[in-house]
Amino acid sequence: MADAANCLFCAIASGALGTEFIAESDRAVAFRDIQPQAPSHVLVVPRQHVAALRDLEPDDDVMAAELLRLAAEVARREGLLAGGYRVVINDGDDAGQTVHHLHLHVLGGRKLNEPLG
Ligand code: 5GP
Ligand code: ZN
Repeated sequence: MADAANCLFCAIASGALGTEFIAESDRAVAFRDIQPQAPSHVLVVPRQHVAALRDLEPDDDVMAAELLRLAAEVARREGLLAGGYRVVINDGDDAGQTVHHLHLHVLGGRKLNEPLG
């Protein structure tokens, strides 16, 4: 499991890979998923390395709230508010987490079926 020194999303969030941010805040950045599952599929990640939702600590509460607020801001910028959208966090193997840096998926632009997989 990647630590901060060897983590794809740490590299993206730092700007080192030149990824375009479609929104950002003090503690979080948002960028398009490389393999979109919907017309709009954006990832919202903390700038700070946190491996998974389960690893959030009380000191992270401001950052965690910022992730949610930025997800809604992304939905607004993507024009998803009228039709609706979904925010997903995968934590662990059964959920299909493949990148071990906390991220929120913002999905929209089509009818999303089977809300609980
Ligand atoms: P997970 O399955 O861990 O919840 O989601 C990881 C997401 O990261 C996947 O949807 C995958 O397509 C996306 N992803 C993996 N590598 C990259 C990358 O290098 N750049 C971007 N923008 N997204 C990536
Ligand atoms: Zn990381």
